[in-house]
Amino acid sequence: MEIMIIGGGIVDLATVYQLQEKYPSFHIIILEKENEVPTYQTGNNRGVVHSSVYYKPGSIKRVNWVQGKKKFQHSGISK
Ligand SMILES: Cc1cc2nc3c(=O)[nH]c(=O)nc-3n(C[C@H](O)[C@H](O)[C@H](O)COP(=O)(O)OP(=O)(O)OC[C@H]3O[C@@H](n4cnc5c(N)ncnc54)[C@H](O)[C@@H]3O)c2cc1C
Repeated sequence: MEIMIIGGGIVDLATVYQLQEKYPSFHIIILEKENEVPTYQTGNNRGVVHSSVYYKPGSIKRVNWVQGKKKFQHSGISK
């Protein structure tokens, strides 16, 4: 299976990471229009994880944030 991801931002690369984890045999191509990554939003954010207090309890954003925070902490990147 071949998959093309258009863009090299954090959302695109996180998608690639999840696909590689789940389907190691997939051939994934990343098509980025700039010469390097990250640019745009991913390259210009403040590097803090936005708090889930902004998101309505039970909403997809809130559930996704809680799961993402746990993975981030287990990754060893976060304290
Ligand atoms: C000033 C600022 C501060 C922020 N601070 C924070 C923060 O502190 N904490 C936080 O959690 N979030 C923050 N955010 C939000 C966060 O950075 C974004 O939600 C996130 O980076 C979005 O990632 P993305 O992959 O969707 O988009 P992007 O990072 O914009 O990536 C999109 C990529 O697609 C490429 N692309 C676009 N069109 C094409 C095309 N036609 N062909 C090929 N490639 C293409 C672009 O070149 C780019 O590399 C901030 C955002 C901004 C702007």
